[in-house]
Amino acid sequence: SSGGAGTSGTRFDLERETELRFEVETGERVQLELFSGMAEVFGSELNRNKKYTFGPGSKIAVFTWHGCTVALSGKTEVAYVSKDTPMMLYLNTHAALEQMRRQAEKDNERGPRVMVVGPTDVGKTTLCRVLLNCAVRLGRRPTLVELDVGQSSISVPGTMAALCIERPADVEEGFSVQAPLVFHFGSTTPGTNIKLYNKLTSSLAEVFSQRCEVNRKASVGGCIINTCGWVKGSGYQALVHCASAFQVDVVLVLDQERLYNELKRDLPHFVRVVLLPKSGGVVERSKDCRRESRDEKIREYFYGFRGTSFYPHAFDVRFSDVRIYKIGAPSIPDSCLPLGMSQDDTQLKLVPVSPGRDLTHHVLSVSSVEDESEVGAGQSRGILESPVCGFIVVTAVDTQAQVMTVLSPAPRPLPRHTLLIMDIRFIDLK
Ligand code: ADP
Ligand code: MG
Repeated sequence: SSGGAGTSGTRFDLERETELRFEVETGERVQLELFSGMAEVFGSELNRNKKYTFGPGSKIAVFTWHGCTVALSGKTEVAYVSKDTPMMLYLNTHAALEQMRRQAEKDNERGPRVMVVGPTDVGKTTLCRVLLNCAVRLGRRPTLVELDVGQSSISVPGTMAALCIERPADVEEGFSVQAPLVFHFGSTTPGTNIKLYNKLTSSLAEVFSQRCEVNRKASVGGCIINTCGWVKGSGYQALVHCASAFQVDVVLVLDQERLYNELKRDLPHFVRVVLLPKSGGVVERSKDCRRESRDEKIREYFYGFRGTSFYPHAFDVRFSDVRIYKIGAPSIPDSCLPLGMSQDDTQLKLVPVSPGRDLTHHVLSVSSVEDESEVGAGQSRGILESPVCGFIVVTAVDTQAQVMTVLSPAPRPLPRHTLLIMDIRFIDLK
């Protein structure tokens, strides 16, 4: 077997505890097949003699405990075998978490709440996936909490969400997303509105805790919290806030010793802070690459995986039938704030948006809040705390006729009429 770029059918014989890493070229697809032995992709087991297809830009590792033979066909940018993988350390981490779950079961306590942190491109999302897969394969029901508003593994970008994991991630598609709890944040960086970010973190923690009170399996399963790569200043404070909101027991710090030391210093002594190395396989992604995967995530929401499973609808919505808000008024100097008002109030304020041409291409969240609920002068209560029930994209605006055309996963009418605007745009090329 040989590494390097290949066009068809390159075989790889992997020794025990090694991994085959490959990247798919832009515009290409690569097929992976397991011939003998056992292997897994980020904690999901491969079936023998089944072809798995990976799309452009995918960066994959096929790991084996006891050795295996696999083949790749299609254009890979790189493909090589590495003996130097942190998988054993990740698995030890899983074993420690599982021990905590067993203890929790015995003592009628709650299972481990784990926060995964580190700068961008260190394998945070991948580690979460490995840990969740390992847990669910043992029959646990852990919850994935996704706080990365730039690259969400649960919903579209600009959201914060939680998902109960009931089966291992699909090798190609990732975790199956049924009935997630999703909140609207509205932009791809927490810094756009850090007050809102922290507030929604608290909301997610509250809902998760309530669920744990009534669902023993969820409580024992605990949660794995994925975070953003912004680990300085307010980004760091947001991690500390999250640890306290979720009453985190374990923090896994990938790759950065400084962050590890800061968290050890600032978190309560009973929180176990663990430094883990990043995998040499994790590749840095460019800005473009990240923008593309955000776009892909939105496309996936409307059209399904690889654009083939869902058929979205296009219809007109009258301006008079909806109320559109943006969360957060532009901040003004403290000295100019009206008496009794704080900066918090401006960041959490609902600002009515009058529909115009500049709405075009924006993603809007459809709030689950009841249409009849009161929205007094800037009163945000209810709407901020309400999850969203779906998303639409404005594809055209007719100011003359006072209607906008929207792309929606479901046919008309909209299930609710309170819409929250995102900074995020999506241009539907279908
Ligand atoms: P982060 O969440 O810290 O930004 P990710 O977990 O998303 O990082 O990893 C970045 C990229 O590297 C992803 O595309 C992921 O599939 C890939 N990757 C992770 N681990 C490996 C590995 N061992 N070999 C090859 N690619 C990997
Ligand atoms: Mg990530």
